[in-house]
Amino acid sequence: MGFNIAIDGPAGAGKSTIAKRAAKELSFIYVDTGAMYRTITLGLMRRGVDIEDVQALERSLADIEVTIDYRDGAQQVYLNGENVSGLIRTEEVSARTSACAAKPQVRAKLTDLQRELAGRQNVLMDGRDIGTAILPDAQLKIYLTASVQTRAQRRYKELVERGESCSLEEIAKDIEERDYRDMHRETAPLMQAEDAVLVDSSDMTIEEVTARIVELARERLQA
Ligand code: C5P
Repeated sequence: MGFNIAIDGPAGAGKSTIAKRAAKELSFIYVDTGAMYRTITLGLMRRGVDIEDVQALERSLADIEVTIDYRDGAQQVYLNGENVSGLIRTEEVSARTSACAAKPQVRAKLTDLQRELAGRQNVLMDGRDIGTAILPDAQLKIYLTASVQTRAQRRYKELVERGESCSLEEIAKDIEERDYRDMHRETAPLMQAEDAVLVDSSDMTIEEVTARIVELARERLQA
């Protein structure tokens, strides 16, 4: 088994930015599991599937294939062979993914792929259930969070910089709703694993959080 680092936490805590940087510093493979859930969601959206219809959901899932590879070190996701890495970042996909990810059939589809990736190499994998359900034996688990207000402000700034109009209140409300859904679903809800190190990034810079994770990883690698 490779050395596995699991980073879980709510939307907007900075997980993917930090995970990417820490993985690079440690020369680990970064696995973004949120992208995989987004890819399945896009596949279901394109097929117009009512995810509450279990038979329709299962039938469509059987036809959906998610694969990943790396281009210049960046993870690419493929939906039945089509690179959809750019298409999964829309607000619509973001909004729908947590409902799709709550379905046990959807989660089951990704479990093996994620475990298999972690089994063959050193990975830093981020998501919601990595330390609790996917890689319970990970050598390092981090629970990365930040206050709703901080997360909403970060997202607001990102959207304004992209020239999109948005309201801070609405973003905060979306974040709260997404947190609630992710934390209260029956299958693999978002929670801190007992042996995870809690990192609250509300008053930390990206560099500080990255340095903390790299430091923890190096300590465990040497142990
Ligand atoms: O991390 P990201 O925001 O891309 O994840 C999108 C959604 O996918 C999350 O809101 C969550 O509902 C779901 N997800 C999950 N389990 C993971 C990763 C993501 O349920 N391991």
